[in-house]
Amino acid sequence: MVIQLTPPTTSGSMVGMEEFYPRTILELEDRFATEDACREYLVRLRWPDGFICPRCRRQGGWLATRGRVICRDCRHQASVTAGTIFQDTHKPLRLWFRAIWQVTSQKNGASAFNVQQVLGLGSYLTAWTWLHKLRRAMVRPGRDFLGGRVEVDETYVGGEGEGKKKGGRGSDKALVAIAVEEDGSGMGRIRMARIADESRSSLYCFIRASIKPGSTIHTDGNPSYKGLEKIGYAHEATVLLGREKDAATQLLPRVHRVASLLKRWLLGTHQGAVHPNYLDYYLDEFTFRFNRRTSRSRGKLFYRLLQQAVQVEPAPYRSIVADAAEARDHKL
Ligand SMILES: [Zn+2]
Repeated sequence: MVIQLTPPTTSGSMVGMEEFYPRTILELEDRFATEDACREYLVRLRWPDGFICPRCRRQGGWLATRGRVICRDCRHQASVTAGTIFQDTHKPLRLWFRAIWQVTSQKNGASAFNVQQVLGLGSYLTAWTWLHKLRRAMVRPGRDFLGGRVEVDETYVGGEGEGKKKGGRGSDKALVAIAVEEDGSGMGRIRMARIADESRSSLYCFIRASIKPGSTIHTDGNPSYKGLEKIGYAHEATVLLGREKDAATQLLPRVHRVASLLKRWLLGTHQGAVHPNYLDYYLDEFTFRFNRRTSRSRGKLFYRLLQQAVQVEPAPYRSIVADAAEARDHKL
């Protein structure tokens, strides 16, 4: 199969292709029935404005066999999967596409066990590694910051019990900072990250990485949030007066709603089988899903995830495990 890969302005062949996404499983099966069909789709996603040769930087090329793209000028052969999460995979792309469909088409996603069963993968570890690679692709490089009025709070996740209880020595509880945009009485987008502790530097670090300066940050009376004005934010602290059980929930209702959805998802879809070392990846998946919850078509999530999958650096199994080991060694 040879497909000419020229910019959409000079060739009609790409027009209307970029935005295709399957809306049903039948559309998925029809459109991605062969390896060539999958590769061609990845090429369009990776070079939406036409292939640019990584060697001579000129534009234009052909899609040849086995996912190679050949430069029109210097004949350099580039691989569509090199430098993406699909690099060095020994499994068919058709299987990957179906794993991505499984993850994106269901409201709560899929566990490694589900994916292994449904796709008939020989090993649980393969399914587990795939899902972690996909979670890495769920964070778009250079993504937007939250803005406007934003609720921020922190909560303990994992281990036994819930809420703002300190995890003692050897505890598998992790502290997670959560930011939720206020959208009228509803919720806008969210960000979340595991933080080392409740110190000012940990919380400031999270806020700076997640929220646009000039935004208004709404918190409880935790003294660690004091001084946010000095780093460019408006700050509104509501101090908890009542001692009623649900007072905290009423104070920052959006953060508390998100925290309880997160915990329910970890316990439900993943049956609580989330090691604290990998929690960040699950937070990324939850955020990806939550911020697209109003998307009219689940197929759009499929499209978006594949698009991001060909933009991120590959994450070999070794590096995923090494990250976790590093996190453990540094008690992150
Ligand atoms: Zn070239």
